[in-house]
Amino acid sequence: MGAYAGVDLGATHIRAVIGDETGSIVASHKTETPRGPAGIAVTEAVLDSIRQACDAADIAPTDVVAAGIGSFGPMDLAEGVVENPANLPDTIDRIPLTGPVENLIGSERVSLHNDANAGVIGERFYSDRSPDDMVYLTISSGVGAGVAVDGNILSGWDGNAGEVGHLTIDPNGFMTCGCGHDGHWEAYCSGENIPRYATQLHREDPVETALPIETEEFSAADIFEYAGEDEFASHVLDQICHWNAIGVANIVHAYAPLVVYVGGAVALNNPDQVLDPIRERLDDMVMSNIPDIQLTQFGDDVVVRGALASALTGGTGDPSQRV
Ligand SMILES: [Zn+2]
Repeated sequence: MGAYAGVDLGATHIRAVIGDETGSIVASHKTETPRGPAGIAVTEAVLDSIRQACDAADIAPTDVVAAGIGSFGPMDLAEGVVENPANLPDTIDRIPLTGPVENLIGSERVSLHNDANAGVIGERFYSDRSPDDMVYLTISSGVGAGVAVDGNILSGWDGNAGEVGHLTIDPNGFMTCGCGHDGHWEAYCSGENIPRYATQLHREDPVETALPIETEEFSAADIFEYAGEDEFASHVLDQICHWNAIGVANIVHAYAPLVVYVGGAVALNNPDQVLDPIRERLDDMVMSNIPDIQLTQFGDDVVVRGALASALTGGTGDPSQRV
């Protein structure tokens, strides 16, 4: 059997899977992402996860024909490393990935993608419907997209195509994004920023609300829970849905996808509250064909599956290009 490896390097967890030539996962291993002391500790944890997954599959790492890695960014794709990740401690400046994994498996067939690109590769390979034009949108601690146009996974200069979380959706710039610029989609709608946005709206207009706005624990989940019962929570959710619809409409006009698969914790935990309003509003916003808006079927596995699918298809996710 030909064995293939996929790795999802996330801010909290690392997952490695071993799959066969059909893309079926035969073994997996999950561990916590080290918080330091340096980037090489993360590299070692990735290598160890692959070794453990190989053990579970009863193969040696050198039996792995090809590997794919889906990771948080930012990354230097030419060097095969993650550089200065924002979501890990500052002591972690550089995480070498492609080279060490090549050494481990004894093959140069190792591909590295940002996690949203891995997502669209996974959707393309595993979905019943895998058109040449599709988008994977993640609404999680950040907002980002992986995009396939005419059957090509878009990468762009330094791999930054699809950084849709930084589309300007609010020209008034009410909120400032983590990147430092005003009015970006992610500043309103990511899991981290939803409570910040609600707090800011409440400061502007301090109406009565049952939301625990002044507490440390106040989170995005509270907005979704209270919406429908609490007037202010409903207003915040309506605003979030408004920004999400603008963001998706911009994606539709830029890339013309047949389908937009949506994943990430915010969408996965609240699928109807997030997706239905986008579907309802696109009609009034889009001049071209309106794509299907679907929740990813693969939940949290979409990135690791995409990494495996990348290994199987030379980084394309195209099921007909299986190697
Ligand atoms: Zn931004």
